[in-house]
Amino acid sequence: MIRVGVIGAAGRMGRNVIDAVSATDDLVVSAAVDPRVDELGLGDSVAVATSLDRLDDGAADVLVDFTVPDAARGHLATALRRGFHLVVGTTGLTEADLAELREASASSGTNAIVAANFAIGAVLLMRFAALAAPYFESVEIVELHHDQKVDAPSGTALATARGIADARSGAGMGEPHDPTTTVVLPGARGGSGPGGVPIHSVRLPGLVAHEEVLFGGPGQGLTIRHDSYDRSSFMSGVLLAVRSVESRPGVTIGLDVLLDG
Ligand code: NAD
Repeated sequence: MIRVGVIGAAGRMGRNVIDAVSATDDLVVSAAVDPRVDELGLGDSVAVATSLDRLDDGAADVLVDFTVPDAARGHLATALRRGFHLVVGTTGLTEADLAELREASASSGTNAIVAANFAIGAVLLMRFAALAAPYFESVEIVELHHDQKVDAPSGTALATARGIADARSGAGMGEPHDPTTTVVLPGARGGSGPGGVPIHSVRLPGLVAHEEVLFGGPGQGLTIRHDSYDRSSFMSGVLLAVRSVESRPGVTIGLDVLLDG
């Protein structure tokens, strides 16, 4: 039985993780951390804490973090050093944050899996986009999320752009051509992502997490789209990561490698 602690337990994703873990036979929720943890009314078998530094060492084998970047940045490396394996879904972490996790993992022997998107369909979208990238001169990404999302663009859009940029540079292609010479409204062409791939962010109530990659070439276009209609879409990936993290040394970025066994 793997004992799972959820950081950000009272949030939208945290609550889904608690339900998903509770529905399995091989995982159990042993800890919950959130300033609002009292809202959850968890039983005595679960160690609760309002912050990670108040949680006892050994209260879980694996901690799953769905919080906000500023909070995660403050406690993830410490959690590794305290002996917890980590599954991190919080988006908005920087390369410097990941470097700190790698250092903490190397010095403590604990592991982390960090994924900007735990939905299998989104992982496949990223693969398909990298596959298509060398065949189209133009490419833009539109990501659409709910109106409570605090970071933009989404971590998935950045990871998608990175994959496209790598595939393009591997094929000897430069940045996508942008014909715009006059920007009437700043930001109209979106943000310039990795490899100069434009990323446009949309925030609307009612949405969950959606992404479109639009490729264009002479006389043709290709659109790849993924939709998460519900947060349950992320749970099979989270459970896969929880079950895998102990046997994956170091810091694993993305769910992609786990899908291949
Ligand atoms: P949310 O606002 O509903 O929940 C965040 C929770 O974190 C809140 O309950 C808050 O009280 C808690 N929190 C804040 N600071 C904390 C701290 N220091 N210690 C413990 N808990 C703390 O947000 P959400 O919609 O659940 O999303 C959480 C994160 O997950 C975001 O970064 C979001 O982008 C990301 N996300 C990732 C995926 C993925 O597949 N990787 C999918 C959806 C959302």
